[in-house]
Amino acid sequence: SGVLLVLGLGACGGQGAGGGTDAAADKPEDLTIGVSMPTQTSERWIADGKAVKEKLEAKGYQVDLQYANDDIPTQSQQVDQMITRGADVLIIAAIDGTALSSQLQAAADKSIPVVAYDRLIRGSKNVNFYVSFDNFKVGVAQAKALLRGLGLETPDGSKGSKTGPVNIELFAGSLDDNNTQYFFGGAMQTLKPYFDNGSLVVKSKQTGMEQVATLRWQQEAAQKRMEDLLTSSYNDGAKVGGVLSPYDGISRGIITALHNAGYGTPANPTPVITGQDAEIASVKLIDTGVQSSTIFKDTRLLAEQAVNAAEAFLQKKEPEANDTKTYDNGTKVVPAYLLPIQTVFKEDIKKQLVDTGYYTAAEVAAGQ
Ligand code: BGC
Repeated sequence: SGVLLVLGLGACGGQGAGGGTDAAADKPEDLTIGVSMPTQTSERWIADGKAVKEKLEAKGYQVDLQYANDDIPTQSQQVDQMITRGADVLIIAAIDGTALSSQLQAAADKSIPVVAYDRLIRGSKNVNFYVSFDNFKVGVAQAKALLRGLGLETPDGSKGSKTGPVNIELFAGSLDDNNTQYFFGGAMQTLKPYFDNGSLVVKSKQTGMEQVATLRWQQEAAQKRMEDLLTSSYNDGAKVGGVLSPYDGISRGIITALHNAGYGTPANPTPVITGQDAEIASVKLIDTGVQSSTIFKDTRLLAEQAVNAAEAFLQKKEPEANDTKTYDNGTKVVPAYLLPIQTVFKEDIKKQLVDTGYYTAAEVAAGQ
């Protein structure tokens, strides 16, 4: 029967910790780590998956890496399969932070620890650890980069040379991603005094997170929304001065819409646009002065923390946390290791991205 078949598969793959056996006695090559990533449409997740896999393999572990095409049923099925094939630890970057509860229960039933990668998994007690960046600070940094790009603040955060008023528009990420509220919350808290004193104006009046969200962080959806904003709110000749964008792919969609509408000339410059992830396509746009800034989150360091956490669990230890208060997933506060972030303007590309080996100078310059 189906049940026997599943049990049979579980038995052949389940020699490691996942089967509830003594992991400490297992050699790394007998242990498998399931790595579930959301999508390959964005470079950062490709880099994340690659880095996690390489670091685990360098330690001798088996890796079962899957990408889910930003499709929730696909991710659920892939995680189910990892469990069936005998994963000993799961590292998961969820598409929808609330959609994996039954998979996580299945993992818990087999004593398989779960590490939430970058995005917290919500509504389940079966999340053992969280590795990420300080997501609220990402939002603060994006807002500060916008203010600095607009000349309202200086790099050290004091009053800039300009006072406004300047028209801006706001974009947020996908509402099913737990990070979105942190990014948007951090940004809005930082921008609030400038809304209050009138130096920043959201001309469309679309300021609620639900109104400005972008399903699955899609570039095309952002382009469409920017086109609609230009038509609905800027047909009186007013200009967009800046756009708060939470992610480089969204930033590029916004830039396309603006350029199609005539922005991007000396007389009609591209607005100040923020970003996140330091994707190479956006780093080039920053280098050529089209996109203003991005937030660099070193995926190599995140991968290292995920590997450390997985390895601790395999050795029946608790991973080292540096935050045990912030990330309440609705069921419990998940212990976390949060990494620092860096804001990147044109003048920071060399020091932060090239000198650290994240990109080569040739990659940044290619095609320019
Ligand atoms: C990540 C961001 C990324 C976004 C879109 C978020 O969960 O934290 O780094 O830009 O997803 O992929």
